[in-house]
Amino acid sequence: MKILESAKEMRRWSRDQRRHGRTIGFVPTMGALHEGHASLIRESVAKNDVTVLSIFVNPAQFAPHEDFDTYPRTFETDRAMAAALGAVAIYAPRSDSVYPEGYATYVHVERLSDGLCGGSRPVFFRGISTVVAKLFNVVEPDRAYFGQKDAQQCAIIKRMVRDLEFDIDIIEMPIIREADGLAMSSRNRYLSEGDRQRALNLSRALQHARELLDAGERDAAKVIDAVRSAMQDVPIDYIALVDADDIAPVEKIDRPILIAVAANIGPARLIDNIKYTPVECKAKTVHTTAMQGIQS
Ligand code: AMP
Repeated sequence: MKILESAKEMRRWSRDQRRHGRTIGFVPTMGALHEGHASLIRESVAKNDVTVLSIFVNPAQFAPHEDFDTYPRTFETDRAMAAALGAVAIYAPRSDSVYPEGYATYVHVERLSDGLCGGSRPVFFRGISTVVAKLFNVVEPDRAYFGQKDAQQCAIIKRMVRDLEFDIDIIEMPIIREADGLAMSSRNRYLSEGDRQRALNLSRALQHARELLDAGERDAAKVIDAVRSAMQDVPIDYIALVDADDIAPVEKIDRPILIAVAANIGPARLIDNIKYTPVECKAKTVHTTAMQGIQS
């Protein structure tokens, strides 16, 4: 396993891979790896010649009162897990080399960054889009892998890649859950047993929403109300039902949507979501494709 600590070393390694004609898959993380991260690494290893992951707890995405100092840092275990999964390099830059004295340049993806997690964490997405742009610039991967667990982040990164014309395919992977439905997260280790039981209300409430949608409910307000009731005694930060690509609120569910929730449970702020495409939209897509087939 190659450990690269500076942008210069990282870029040299990537360019060397490319010179040998190898495709590069990239998995950006903050470490404290679990099965969610493992699913991204596995997919990257399967679809690319070499896989590099980054481990960097990015100070720019934490507000002063948040858990930057206490965020779990488990480099040796992460390195062993990544190696066992088939990754061949880890980019782990020092914070003062990513943000040197006098650092002044930020990437802000407008609108998509404002609501949901952006509403309660104002610097969060600016920090993420900035660091991901910098990582892309240094690693120069062919494909980069992100989890739907952070669905708003995925939408923002896809928009940034499109708008700034990065030549990188963004692959969004499904949420990996514990057997009882809890979405895996590095922050789950903050939860007591009682907190963990309450945390299950997030995935249960979303499952309930999916059942309503499957039964034909298309009124966003009704679905949000049902999710709110199902969250019971959980301190909700937000419940949002938005366009899956644009993260703009929708009233009538007539396109692919994202239902996202955030809650403060014990010391942890947890998020979860589901995506849903109404059957009538899927039917429309198939019909349009068939018509195009006939016309061409
Ligand atoms: P993080 O280390 O929390 O910044 O996450 C790194 C990447 O792993 C992000 O793209 C996350 O969306 C993804 N990820 C985290 N948890 C999960 C999960 N439970 N299932 C799938 N992907 C995940």
